Amino acid sequence: MPNAKAYSAASSTSPLASTVIARRDPKPEDVEIEILYCGVCHSDLHAVRNEWESVMATVYPCVPGHEIVGRVKSIGSAVTKFKAGDLAAVGCLVDSDGTCPACKDGLEQFCAGATFTYNAPDKHLGGVTYGGYSESIVVTEHFALRVPENLDLAGAAPLLCAGITTYSPMRHWSVTKGKKVGVVGLGGLGHMGVKFAHALGAHTVVFTTSPSKKDDALRLGADEVVISRDANDMAKHMGSFDFILDAVAAPHDINAYINMLRRDGNLTMVGAPAEPLEVNVFGLIFARRSFSGSLIGGIAETQEMLDFCGANNITADVEVIPIQKINEAYERMLKSDVKYRFSIDMASLKAE
Ligand code: NAP
Ligand code: ZN
Repeated sequence: MPNAKAYSAASSTSPLASTVIARRDPKPEDVEIEILYCGVCHSDLHAVRNEWESVMATVYPCVPGHEIVGRVKSIGSAVTKFKAGDLAAVGCLVDSDGTCPACKDGLEQFCAGATFTYNAPDKHLGGVTYGGYSESIVVTEHFALRVPENLDLAGAAPLLCAGITTYSPMRHWSVTKGKKVGVVGLGGLGHMGVKFAHALGAHTVVFTTSPSKKDDALRLGADEVVISRDANDMAKHMGSFDFILDAVAAPHDINAYINMLRRDGNLTMVGAPAEPLEVNVFGLIFARRSFSGSLIGGIAETQEMLDFCGANNITADVEVIPIQKINEAYERMLKSDVKYRFSIDMASLKAE
């Protein structure tokens, strides 16, 4: 069994530290990928610190990371989509049952038997799956994505979670030209949401708690920026949005955004604060508004999103870091101090 250098957390209060993990020997349908970059998602932080204990408790040691791009090192005998040396990417999913209605609809993320890239039962090696803060990963080829050659790889890595998580609900809720779309929280997910809403032709409004991000929001494609702590600024947009994507990682007042929807408008949560949010149902009832959620995206749609990014030259705005800076990066992410995604240069693992 091949070993791989990695970074793991030993407990919910331990910093991430260097370790060595086992990867399985590639089976006929498997692709072995040398990881070049891995994005840092706020979900990694939620998981490492066991903040989602009530929904999916973290099993330690935990090796996070589900925004993976790299090069194919080797392939199994039945692999047809890749050859050694090709670019390949892995997102939040590494397996599913392949037969249930969700899988048949290309929505593997909703399969009851879906295997997430980390902290999910590993049916090959036992224990739990280990993610992309690592030098390599082995996945079945169905769960490996093709990466357009024109994209910067450090900036392409975050597309595998932040990208698909914002692209998928926008497609589902028909974000197009002529629609007014809000994006709440200009972090890793939010900044991708702005790029997609703009690319899809919508009138795009960013809601941010950080006045210092205003110019960036406009540069990223926003038509307007609202500082959400400014009540006057907020009041101007009441009842006007077709769709709002909320990508905030912490508890906040959701009713303020529900009231910004027009009749029949939809607010979708992709942000996943650990604590429940309080919804005032009258905001929904009186204008037949809906409040919903969305989880990443299926494999076919992830490939569609990557191809869309290739065609439109869209990548995440990244700050590339060595793996040795990961604990500092988590602290900065908690302070909303990242423009707009950390991407780990996995070559830095060689020094461990
Ligand atoms: P992130 O980079 O940390 O961005 C979160 C942003 O939320 C911050 O940059 C900040 O934006 C805003 N924010 C933070 N604290 C806030 C507060 N107290 N009140 C209001 N706004 C606040 O995180 P991310 O990686 O984009 O992830 C965002 C959330 O999505 C996380 O909960 C993550 O677990 C979840 N997620 C869900 C899925 C899914 O499939 N549904 C997939 C990936 C991630 P401003 O500075 O602009 O206010
Ligand atoms: Zn993620």
